[in-house]
Amino acid sequence: MEARVLERCSPLYPGKKEILTFDPFRYPDNIAQCGMIIRITDVTEKRKIEAQLVRANRMTGLANLSAGIAHEIRNPLSSISLFTDLLLDSDRFDMVPQAVEILGDIKENALRISLIIKQILDFARGSGEKKQLSNLNAILVETLEFWYQRIKINRIQLEFYPVPGLPKVYVDPMQIVHVLNNLILNAIESMEEGGGLCVSTSLAKSSVISGREVVAIHISDTGSGISLEDMDKIFDPFFTTKMTGAGLGLSISYKIIEEHGGIISVESDPGNGAIFTVELPVYRGNCSCKDPDVPR
Ligand code: ADP
Repeated sequence: MEARVLERCSPLYPGKKEILTFDPFRYPDNIAQCGMIIRITDVTEKRKIEAQLVRANRMTGLANLSAGIAHEIRNPLSSISLFTDLLLDSDRFDMVPQAVEILGDIKENALRISLIIKQILDFARGSGEKKQLSNLNAILVETLEFWYQRIKINRIQLEFYPVPGLPKVYVDPMQIVHVLNNLILNAIESMEEGGGLCVSTSLAKSSVISGREVVAIHISDTGSGISLEDMDKIFDPFFTTKMTGAGLGLSISYKIIEEHGGIISVESDPGNGAIFTVELPVYRGNCSCKDPDVPR
């Protein structure tokens, strides 16, 4: 008999990954008799950290590549915009209305591309962040106020449960607002027929690093949900299932939260909705964020 190693999803603890090691042995005083030592090791955290590292590497590679392409596209795109403006100048050229309309469309699309390029370059360059001690509940109140009308128009029922006494986090509030805007917009867009949006905060244990305390924001919707097949791709740059999507919202959000020492995760019941969780480290005076300027 040979030793064997097997990795599996735990049948007893859903969501846990475990490695089973089978070590056969023979009793020295009776070699006809044999036995087996079975060891079960919980590798859930190890696998999660590995997946994070693989994603981080892939993101860096993609960010560099896309920044190069974006940079190359920027100049010819400026020329297209410039020449379109020249043609639209009625003092110089006499255009029939149909041509003016087509040129208007060209200009609009060029503008759209340049906005996408700006997003790509922001994503690749990383942030010039301005971190400060912040209250996530207060940031959420302001963000939700901004979305209130759109939520109402889209026939979405909003619930908001900020946990009282939430510890502060050391973040760049503008960037966190950017992440929240992306998550809320995605949730709204997933509920074309209306539905429910629930936003809450909690003090929790990190889902990646054991023993670490985090402040978590949960954004759940009752929308289309995410198929099992798409689940692995949604944080990849340029992955989108939308007609007019750029597929950059989640990858940029992921990068921002990672730069704050946190993590974004998602769970979904396809057809019934999705829940995104943003975890950020609690500020304890000796913050573990990457920023060397953290006040002590
Ligand atoms: P975009 O919104 O431009 O598609 P994102 O990076 O923000 O780019 O999202 C990538 C994809 O993730 C979306 O196209 C969609 O398929 C999926 N997605 C994100 N959030 C949700 C959600 N709340 N419900 C369902 N699908 C979602």
